[in-house]
Amino acid sequence: MNIAGVLQGLATFFWLIVVGIIVLAVVRASRAKPIKGAVWLVVTTVVLSVVLTTVSAGLVFLQADQYGIVISALQPTGYRPQPLRPGLHWVVPFLENVQSYSIAKQTYTMATTTGEGQVTGDDSIQARTKDGQQVFIDASVIYSIDPAHLIDLHITWQNRFEDLVVRPVTRSAIRDAVSQFGVEEIVSTKRGELELTISDSIKLGLAANNLLMDDFLLRNIRFSDEYAAAVEQKQIAEQLALQAQFVVQQRKQEAEQARQVAQGQADAAVIAAQGEALVATLSDGATIEADVVICAAGVRPNVAFLAGSGVAVGHGVHVDEHMRTDVSNIYAAGDVTEASGFHTGERELNAIQPNAADQARVAAINMTGGEARFQGALAINVLDTLGMISTSFGQWWGVEGGQGVERVDEKGFRYLSLQFKDDVLVGATSIGRTDHVGALRGLVQGRLRLGPWKDKLLQDPTQFMTAYLSQTQKAS
Ligand SMILES: Cc1cc2nc3c(=O)[nH]c(=O)nc-3n(C[C@H](O)[C@H](O)[C@H](O)COP(=O)(O)OP(=O)(O)OC[C@H]3O[C@@H](n4cnc5c(N)ncnc54)[C@H](O)[C@@H]3O)c2cc1C
Repeated sequence: MNIAGVLQGLATFFWLIVVGIIVLAVVRASRAKPIKGAVWLVVTTVVLSVVLTTVSAGLVFLQADQYGIVISALQPTGYRPQPLRPGLHWVVPFLENVQSYSIAKQTYTMATTTGEGQVTGDDSIQARTKDGQQVFIDASVIYSIDPAHLIDLHITWQNRFEDLVVRPVTRSAIRDAVSQFGVEEIVSTKRGELELTISDSIKLGLAANNLLMDDFLLRNIRFSDEYAAAVEQKQIAEQLALQAQFVVQQRKQEAEQARQVAQGQADAAVIAAQGEALVATLSDGATIEADVVICAAGVRPNVAFLAGSGVAVGHGVHVDEHMRTDVSNIYAAGDVTEASGFHTGERELNAIQPNAADQARVAAINMTGGEARFQGALAINVLDTLGMISTSFGQWWGVEGGQGVERVDEKGFRYLSLQFKDDVLVGATSIGRTDHVGALRGLVQGRLRLGPWKDKLLQDPTQFMTAYLSQTQKAS
């Protein structure tokens, strides 16, 4: 409570005491027991009450968010020319009084939902767009009294400015602005522009009435039920059209596939018809008669669409050991990448499933905030050629300064090649065997040091499984 309030309370209290003393004095006098010095007591408390009442009538305390208009019988205009600011003030008791106004920010809301705005029930603003569609708008305007023009506001509107200014100015600004836009525009491309147009218009309208607009919020735009239904129909139609387009595309692809299969069968028939005459001509001009010619095309990622994107590409998408491209929030994994090689550390395309899966795992961990590193792409191939299985791992062709061993079993159609760098197996090739070839991968990928087993394998490479078990069991 402020000092003016305290004094007012005290004054009231003393007036009650005055009344009490008078009543008591009258009662006692009627019983012939008058109170000694009653008159003096009454006069003293009356004087005190009058003083307190007068002082409290002259003191005015305004809170930090309040300004006050002094209505004055002493001024020819009927009010003081300057409003009072927050704090304690003195006005002429009984000839002047103060009307206070809050200068804090206030929100005026007009919304569909009952209980959300100042008016109960659906208070959204109905407006018509340029193309005649009816829309219902929920909006809020945040405003405050302009302290510099408080007196003008008081003279014109007193405390009725919310109903008589804020509400009509806002509604009218919204209706005017909406009528300048098409319905499609206000829901998509020009919603921001609409909001700005309304905001500017309200700002001007409030300023003309001594109010300051702080913000305008276009909270929701609702359409008439008929229009909403029409939009839904349109979306459904578009969806159906897209679906139809997709089906056509799919059919085209299937037709192309069928065409290629037919072409392949036709080519095969020609080759079969040529029979023994199938001859492969090498780049040096030499010719080889063959029963079957296998062409390997390899993998060529389509990276052309990345031109100008900032993602660096060579033969594939360049990635670091985290599978991150040159654009820090773009990752890549699998056949499309050119990642570091397991043995060389150089960028290479290595389009096989284990690498794709491993890279995808590394990329996923790093993309979700974890830390994982790709150990490098290891070349692995397992082929079934007309029933003959061949495999190759790592640097199967051997390395400079390394040692290698080959074992050929022509009768059994089996072949094995091991390639070493120091006492580590860096590459291997096998044909015609399926037993234990996983151990070859384990030896290469684990970079297991073979120690004395290297010489044993140079003597008899088929012992690689025993060597693998010996080294892994020793390691564990
Ligand atoms: C005939 C053949 C045999 C193979 N044999 C072996 C094997 O024996 N062992 C082995 O390890 N690996 C083998 N591979 C390689 C292996 O299949 C791939 O290394 C592996 O599938 C790569 O995985 P990926 O996720 O990088 O790419 P993919 O498996 O090719 O997956 C890419 C996906 O992206 C889709 N896609 C492409 N463009 C778009 C686009 N614009 N929008 C949306 N989606 C798109 C594709 O339809 C595809 O589903 C073989 C590959 C082929 C073709």
